[in-house]
Amino acid sequence: MTDIQTALSTATKLLKKTSDSASLDTEVLLCHVLNKSRSHLRAWPEKKLQEKDKQQFLQLIKQRQQGLPIAYIIGSREFWSRDFKVNNQVLIPRPDTELLIELSLRILADAQKTSLLDLGTGSGIVGITLAAERPNIDVIATDLSVQALTIAKENAATHQIKNIHFIQSNWFAQIPGLNFDLIVSNPPYIANNDPHLSQGDIRFEPKSALTSDEQGLSDIKKISAQAHNFLTHNGTLAIEHGFDQQKAVQTIFKSFNYHNIKTHSDLSGNPRVTTGQWKTK
Ligand code: GLN
Repeated sequence: MTDIQTALSTATKLLKKTSDSASLDTEVLLCHVLNKSRSHLRAWPEKKLQEKDKQQFLQLIKQRQQGLPIAYIIGSREFWSRDFKVNNQVLIPRPDTELLIELSLRILADAQKTSLLDLGTGSGIVGITLAAERPNIDVIATDLSVQALTIAKENAATHQIKNIHFIQSNWFAQIPGLNFDLIVSNPPYIANNDPHLSQGDIRFEPKSALTSDEQGLSDIKKISAQAHNFLTHNGTLAIEHGFDQQKAVQTIFKSFNYHNIKTHSDLSGNPRVTTGQWKTK
């Protein structure tokens, strides 16, 4: 029978070829099998694994060797200190998207701002996090994918979020005639021919959540073209985009007459979210 330490070192060696984070991956997978924290692994390195746990662990290591992302193997990923269920129908939450949350929280700190629309919610991280952090606001979150909405609804239920409502919609197509103080989106924005799409974890994520025509800008254009019809006076549109799309997104926002257009950088210093406001005539 194998102990924790031996299982970890053997599996780390197996993963070295396929993963840059072999040691961390191995720990996360063993924690998942044992339903214990990483400190448990540190505290009990000599503890023997039960045969069934060992077999399950090896099974998960095999999946990781085949390239499957850790989040899909264990079925969850943390975002803004909450666990979100994920599967291969939704994007894996990324730290990049925390910027969208930070900016939104700043806007929603104004007690007058009470309505939020999250377009293309995926697993629900943006809409659910904001609904949780600002229980006084009303959130509508959309996705085109019924499978994504199923996951997002489950996540909202897990976190007992009551102030969110989900609608299946192709961007604004099914949005009732409402005006929102804030419209946020992390849309697909990667160009169809981006070489990263065939590397690493991203290969397993849904293309519909990642790629967009016109060098990745087609969906951002569609959203910007319509968002102003759904914004209150001085309402804000905030869109996440690629690190090299700042100029293009600003040009799009300008062409639709948003004002106070600003691009904000994420923790890695990459331009990541552009915001613009709308003035009703
Ligand atoms: N930020 C993600 C990436 O570059 C893409 C997410 C998206 O297309 N919305 O991997």
